[in-house]
Amino acid sequence: MNSRKITILGGGQAGLQLACGLLSKGYEVELVQNRTAEEIRSGKVMSSQCMFGQALENEREIGLDFWALECPTVDSINFAVPAPDGSGQKAVEWNGLLERPAQSVDQRTKYPVWLQEFERRGGKLDIREATVADLDRYAAASDLTIVAAGKSEIAKLFERDAEKSPFDKPQRILALTYVHGMAPRPGHSAAYFNLIPAVGEYFVFPALTHSGPCHIMVFEGIPGGPMDCWQDITGPTQHLERSKRILDTFLPWEAERCRGIELTDANGILTGAIAPTVRKPIGRLPSGRAVLGLADAICLNDPITGQGSNNASKAAKIYLDTIVAHGDRPFDEAFMQASFDRYWNYAQFVVGWTNALLQPPPPHVLRIMDTAQSYPALAKRIANGFDDPLDLFPWFAVPEEADRYLAQIVA
Ligand SMILES: Cc1cc2nc3c(=O)[nH]c(=O)nc-3n(C[C@H](O)[C@H](O)[C@H](O)COP(=O)(O)OP(=O)(O)OC[C@H]3O[C@@H](n4cnc5c(N)ncnc54)[C@H](O)[C@@H]3O)c2cc1C
Repeated sequence: MNSRKITILGGGQAGLQLACGLLSKGYEVELVQNRTAEEIRSGKVMSSQCMFGQALENEREIGLDFWALECPTVDSINFAVPAPDGSGQKAVEWNGLLERPAQSVDQRTKYPVWLQEFERRGGKLDIREATVADLDRYAAASDLTIVAAGKSEIAKLFERDAEKSPFDKPQRILALTYVHGMAPRPGHSAAYFNLIPAVGEYFVFPALTHSGPCHIMVFEGIPGGPMDCWQDITGPTQHLERSKRILDTFLPWEAERCRGIELTDANGILTGAIAPTVRKPIGRLPSGRAVLGLADAICLNDPITGQGSNNASKAAKIYLDTIVAHGDRPFDEAFMQASFDRYWNYAQFVVGWTNALLQPPPPHVLRIMDTAQSYPALAKRIANGFDDPLDLFPWFAVPEEADRYLAQIVA
């Protein structure tokens, strides 16, 4: 057993993954979590949590991939744009195979099992809604205290980084609908990403929930537009009907797959909105002690690129590596800043890509998406960018680079 004690506030993707990883390396770990396993299991869905190859590999490395065989795979990315004439045809469509399949395990299924696993590995679980005062007590008794509380109030302990946060309000109105009975895609499976200009985006993919394989429907409506339409919903049945009505109106090929769908359970729905926010990584407590932020607590993105759980997994892996490599030296602010900087070297690209997709696509992106229809290698490269977003840079972001790359492809 390593004599160093680490406290983690927040038992989600990042907190639990890091906590279990640290236990495997012999650290003493206390996890503070506000909801019990049973409360999570019987509660509402929280995410669509589609995770790509590298993030799944991180889970596998520390023995947390309990659903690898049971969970349906997402084998490709399918991109479509409806024709602007309202004909119900597609103006653009391509499919890119993923080199390593993605998977989505309902967090209501995953977190309770991981909480159990954390205790089985010898971790100390403290169930409470932690306050800043509580954090001060934990920090006084720990060598390092990490806050992985997701998008909850306590994240406001970390100052918003205005330079890294171009938006001060949500750019999409979100809704999730977990269903059974959706017709599968012929051939290999896909995360279908439909972009409806001036309306929003709809994506859908196979997943695993309590009651077995399902599909998760994700609606991203532009505020004030026709897909910003959830305020008057009073219950699950109406939520499902509204989900179907959106597809009937804008995406007939998706509506066709949904003739026989039903909700996985009454809690298989969610509506909300996220203001994308990056915060400073070091939080200062009333005592003057410092705590380190992790994942969504300090780097919160809109789900449009499906990167949040992937980021959380990658951030947890980076912090695990930096903690272990730091040996017996003190976990001071220089260590905290260096750990975050290593994560930000990666995450800045994901944040840039995600925030760019929240804006109307610029001409060079339209050219890329259009060209991908005729060049499967390009479609494949974009698809695999969801696993390794760095590979999308600079050509997806810089018009001249896009032109140069497209010229090579079509030559
Ligand atoms: C609609 C929607 C769709 C999404 N789709 C995807 C997707 O397809 N792919 C993807 O990769 N990501 C997706 N995400 C994002 C993803 O779910 C998150 O980024 C990821 O869960 C973040 O992990 P985390 O560990 O930082 O926080 P969380 O998973 O939110 O965990 C935080 C934990 O901290 C606990 N907590 C909070 N406050 C306190 C407190 N005060 N005291 C004690 N405990 C506390 C919470 O109960 C929770 O268990 C989506 C998100 C949304 C909202």
